[in-house]
Amino acid sequence: MSKIHLIDSPFPLSNVKGLGPKRLQVLNELNIHTIEDLILYFPVRYEDNTVIDLTQAEDQSMVTVVGEVYSTPAVAFFGRNKSKLTVHLMVNQIAVKCVFFNQPYLKKKINLNDKVTIKGKWNRRKQEINGNKMLFNTGDEGQPQLEPVYRIKEGIKQKPLRDMIRQVLDEVTIHEWLSAELRDKYKLESLADTVRNLHYAPDKKELLKARRTYAFTELFMFELRMQWLNRIEKTSDEAIEVNYDIELVKDFIQRLPFELTSAQKQSVNEIFRDLKAPVRMHRLLQGDVGSGKTVVAAICMYALKTAGYQSALMVPTEILAEQHAESLSELFGEAMNVALLTGSVKGTQRTLLLEQLRKGEIDCLIGTHALIQDDVVFNNIGLVITDEQHRFGVNQRQLLREKGAMTNVLFMTATPIPRTLAISVFGEMDVSSIKQLPAGRKPILTTWEKHESYEQVLEQMTGELNKGRQAYVICPLIESSEHLEDVQNVIELYESLQSYYGNQRVGLLHGKLSTEDKEEVMQRFSDHEIDILVSTTVVEVGVNVPNATFMMIYDANRFGLSTLHQLRGRVGRSEHQSYCVLIASPKTETGIERMNIMTQTNDGFELSERDLEMRGPGDFFGVKQSGLPDFLVADVVEDYKMLEVARDEAGELIQSGQFFDDQYRTLREFIEDKILYMSFD
Ligand code: ADP
Ligand code: MG
Repeated sequence: MSKIHLIDSPFPLSNVKGLGPKRLQVLNELNIHTIEDLILYFPVRYEDNTVIDLTQAEDQSMVTVVGEVYSTPAVAFFGRNKSKLTVHLMVNQIAVKCVFFNQPYLKKKINLNDKVTIKGKWNRRKQEINGNKMLFNTGDEGQPQLEPVYRIKEGIKQKPLRDMIRQVLDEVTIHEWLSAELRDKYKLESLADTVRNLHYAPDKKELLKARRTYAFTELFMFELRMQWLNRIEKTSDEAIEVNYDIELVKDFIQRLPFELTSAQKQSVNEIFRDLKAPVRMHRLLQGDVGSGKTVVAAICMYALKTAGYQSALMVPTEILAEQHAESLSELFGEAMNVALLTGSVKGTQRTLLLEQLRKGEIDCLIGTHALIQDDVVFNNIGLVITDEQHRFGVNQRQLLREKGAMTNVLFMTATPIPRTLAISVFGEMDVSSIKQLPAGRKPILTTWEKHESYEQVLEQMTGELNKGRQAYVICPLIESSEHLEDVQNVIELYESLQSYYGNQRVGLLHGKLSTEDKEEVMQRFSDHEIDILVSTTVVEVGVNVPNATFMMIYDANRFGLSTLHQLRGRVGRSEHQSYCVLIASPKTETGIERMNIMTQTNDGFELSERDLEMRGPGDFFGVKQSGLPDFLVADVVEDYKMLEVARDEAGELIQSGQFFDDQYRTLREFIEDKILYMSFD
């Protein structure tokens, strides 16, 4: 994973003294390829060698003491190859006995009246130290209080690595990126001192300071990048103006089978304002599951068509792409030519489709990441929409956007991203929110049951089925796995439900079915030829069957909050009361808390904040897709406040225009060279 660059590599690593090809190879294996990598190869921990006052030391704690040898060491051998060395020290007027096991060679090195530093375990009652390390002729100086410990491997030892880093640090000049004002304001050190102290801090206080400064610098540089990129995008004056035909659009909205909610109307207005403006749209449309984002997207795509442009909708799964293609075709009727492109579209069918797309005969292309393949060429694309965008990497989104140089972008998500994080990750994005469900919806009632209550849950489900409703039963895995024996397997569950319900039609859906089979099962569920759909999380996103009012999630503790919320969003899509039952016997506190949160709130915004609190952004977005670089020291969750400060300061610098003054030229060039266009996926 990429890291934010903070340091130049003025010469190649191979120029470092004492670094032959063999060691170079070892360093490479430790992912050290440049001078920068070496300098930023921070210790994984620090051995605390702070000399301590024995009268204050706790019994059985590790201590470091300095003392004077007053007895000739004696060695006793016992057992096979075992030995015990005893020596007496005077430590600050306290006579201390020191024993070293199996280090008989120390005897030759210890002389009467030597001043030595010893590390070991303190036995208060016996006034004895069980030593594991002895350093000679050190006195009070020379020995670093916090000794860096690096991750190493065969071929390189701690000491040479430490020496090498020290040598290189002496030879390079580390540039300062934070202004003196900024450092003053937040009590930060110079970057040069910071880096040095991260290796050789004189004490813990300095180490903490160094950590703060480094974390801030990382976040600040990252934010400069984000906001600079954003400025470049926004000020590109070449963006197309979409001159849609408002009368046609109004007609289209009139003909919808329902009235738009006011939140939907407002979102449409906000998006339309962007479309008409001669700047690229860069907007996030967030709304809880079932809030009706798809129809907002449809209206926009229709508007593009009236202005003579094509549009694209990228979704994370094939099932969702198919569903969208189908429901949008129905919605548009003759008005738009909708096409579907997924991995399953192949051969002549695909060739033909691409040809039509190039000629502009397709108005709206819906698909999975198959949309970003090189040979997918649009005639004149004017709008790119990504649904559940956090599931795509930044690169994938970028590629799709590049299909049309001046394209407007709309991101849709049902997993609301806490705003600070969204801005920090995606840059200053405009946000439209649909915080209102279509009229007549009742909040879903969520309960949490232990496995013992399974039978009762089934009875509750039967009640719903008897009213003519349908149900989802979700379970985590496809087939039995040796590692997760206690997890109900979807096929077993399917079979047991089939025998339990003689008179209800049970269907099975999982990721290992072929696309056609999946589609057929979904279609049958949607046509109410299936009453109970037993499924893995493949139904997680976007699937829309309003008559389904019962959602049972088996082993719910196996899922994260955002997944649970998405799954729950499959019900509650009509005027009928819907239910979600979580079956789980979690063993961990987090597991229990997750179940409780689910029963407490239906609000996706709240859930996402709490999910973030519990798991951090990596998990929240999916580790690889967070769009965040791998910070060396900063932690986006722990240092959340710092991220906000860094964002504001970076924003101030860029928006005030100061950043483009001569004094920041070196910084600008460095960022442009090293950070601006790097990818974090
Ligand atoms: P989302 O994508 O935000 O989860 P959808 O767009 O799938 O939600 O909409 C959920 C359901 O609500 C769909 O059946 C859709 O047709 C319906 N719907 C959308 N907007 C409205 C509205 N204003 N009034 C009534 N039903 C609506
Ligand atoms: Mg949707």
